[in-house]
Amino acid sequence: MILTLKKGTSPETIDTILNLITEQGAKAKHVNLMDKDLICIDAGKTVDLKAVTGRRDVLSIHHVGSAYKLVSRKYQPDSSIIKVGNVEIGGSGLTIISGPCAVESRDQIMQIAELVKANGAQILRGGVFKPRTSPYAFQGMGEEGLMLLKEAGETYGMPVVTEVLDEIGFDSVVDHVDIIQIGARNMQNFALLKKAGNCLKPILLKRGPSATIEEFLLAAEYIMANGNPNVILCERGIKTYEPMTRNTLDISCVPLIKHLSHLPILVDPSHASGDRKLIKSLSLAAVAAGADGVMIEAHNNPDQALSDGPQSILPERLMEIKEAMNRIAEVLAV
Ligand code: PEP
Ligand code: MN
Repeated sequence: MILTLKKGTSPETIDTILNLITEQGAKAKHVNLMDKDLICIDAGKTVDLKAVTGRRDVLSIHHVGSAYKLVSRKYQPDSSIIKVGNVEIGGSGLTIISGPCAVESRDQIMQIAELVKANGAQILRGGVFKPRTSPYAFQGMGEEGLMLLKEAGETYGMPVVTEVLDEIGFDSVVDHVDIIQIGARNMQNFALLKKAGNCLKPILLKRGPSATIEEFLLAAEYIMANGNPNVILCERGIKTYEPMTRNTLDISCVPLIKHLSHLPILVDPSHASGDRKLIKSLSLAAVAAGADGVMIEAHNNPDQALSDGPQSILPERLMEIKEAMNRIAEVLAV
């Protein structure tokens, strides 16, 4: 359940209302979201709302029975549109994010940025702090790479997204990028999710490799419950018993999440498959399933890439994929 309080309700009154609920044994939290004061009440326990419904400071009650609430379509029926510069994620058009797995040098990111832009990408990606399975693998260029990514985005007029690995990293990155990525391995890093909730910067939240859809939505709920409504979900494949692909793209999560949540959802066919020959098919499947766009790794020299070369396409291939995606979207629109 979500109670919406009257604008300007004092902190003392908010505490009083919280107490009326928690003294019944229910869990509740005050949330300030988009200038609205809300009380989110956990589904676990039946609460007698008589004590609060009659109050002048309680404007409305939304009955949202699921564990996640603010991300639910039951709370917000209209799809969220997240604005990043001139790009709208979750609106009527498809969003294409592309760029290398990792920023490797000035020449590399500049060349790739120019090419992905010319081939239809609206947002530039590039990892600078890389979460690698092996401690011996390339860990990213760090701060230097961040400045190169920023420069490439400015030069070619594209918002940029990069991943942060921890709370300290968050502070050093947030002012230099347009979207902060929380990677699959950090989907349940609750301290990082809270940190992401304490600002208004758009957050690209990737699904954990072993996370259920409910856990994924609850991770997004952490960000919203701490005050940031600008959350973009990203399905990037989950662990299954199939070794022929890097992960298994859970395509059914796309329409299901569209049904359950108002948040936009992108698909990352690169990490889902680990295989560049599957990128186009999975991108088309993503659009057919209702995704708001894709994030595709591209590299100007994939065989020499310092990370994820086998799944990186040449930037020149992006346009062909984008045009095919648009054709699928047109068919769906009729
Ligand atoms: C990435 O997008 O750079 C990445 C590391 O992806 P994931 O967190 O999905 O593995
Ligand atoms: Mn990668």
